[in-house]
Amino acid sequence: MTHNQIIKEVIKYTNNTLLINPLIQNTIKLVEWAVTLADKYSDHDINLPNPEKPNTDEEKFYVEKTNAIFQDAIAYIMYHECMHLIYNHQYDKNDDTYNKELEKEADSSAFKFIMDNEENQDNFQKGLSIVIANVILLFRAHPSDIVSKRHPDTDIRIITCIDYFGEEFPRLDAIKYIVSLAFELFFRIYDIPYKVERANDINELLNIDMVIFDDLKKQDVIRQSFNKRERIL
Ligand SMILES: [Zn+2]
Repeated sequence: MTHNQIIKEVIKYTNNTLLINPLIQNTIKLVEWAVTLADKYSDHDINLPNPEKPNTDEEKFYVEKTNAIFQDAIAYIMYHECMHLIYNHQYDKNDDTYNKELEKEADSSAFKFIMDNEENQDNFQKGLSIVIANVILLFRAHPSDIVSKRHPDTDIRIITCIDYFGEEFPRLDAIKYIVSLAFELFFRIYDIPYKVERANDINELLNIDMVIFDDLKKQDVIRQSFNKRERIL
């Protein structure tokens, strides 16, 4: 699935009243422009949301938050790669379990590096950025990309990341809800059956989500639903 198709799917599940908001409309245009950069460079239209000359106070508020989250998410990904170098990780082509442990070590060290930073002013925002860096891995070209030989599966990677926070982390539930929403979006985009009835609290909800992922991986439903979807598109 291309980025544009994913954007269309996301919009489909967005509350319609939100779509009337001009800031949301402009944000959608901005994202559509951003994905064109993968093929060809063009200038950022400053009539669209931008950090340099925000068009309204509301835009300034959200752009600054989004910018900070983006920068921390990218920093986390770069720290992850740096950790492979610092630990001199050498992959073993015959041992995927070992390779996954190396990835886990890079993830957990990058997490600590960002969260323990002395200049760290806003732990919640940094934590959220790290989770988002992991959550975006759900939305790649093919849903079966969540299963990986060398890296831990994406769902496992996200849940492991939540564990790094520890239960004392302020507003941990808010982070867990964002993860749960991302899981739900993934299920909806790929027509994966799930029920909304369900959990008494967020931990139970995430446990149910993980059972769905386990099931998908066992039955290869991910691939089947992708094929079905491809016929629709
Ligand atoms: Zn890695």
